[in-house]
Amino acid sequence: MKYCITYYVHEESDLPKKGWLQSCIMCYTITSNTLFFSQIEKHNAIIETQTHVCQVCKKKINSTSSAINIRAFKYRYNKKVNQKINEYVIQPPPPSPVSTPSSTPSSTPNKQLIQ
Ligand SMILES: [Zn+2]
Repeated sequence: MKYCITYYVHEESDLPKKGWLQSCIMCYTITSNTLFFSQIEKHNAIIETQTHVCQVCKKKINSTSSAINIRAFKYRYNKKVNQKINEYVIQPPPPSPVSTPSSTPSSTPNKQLIQ
């Protein structure tokens, strides 16, 4: 039995933390678009990371162009997401779903039980 934990990484905003609209991680635009970032297996959990990115930023991230501005943008994106993941890993949420952490406002964990 494995747990699938999905982290939705986004920029901080006044929007509800568990809402489907969040601030784009790169440009702060309000968006419902998400982009898969990574998936790792740790102990008995599959940890998936999704990022909130607007259409414009998503296009740049998915671009195959080797232009310097696109490469720099992708580098900033990876760095920012990894920073947010590390912030979250340092202060993991308690295992009980009753008490949700308020110290990690920019990441919204979503636990799902899969078999
Ligand atoms: Zn954006």
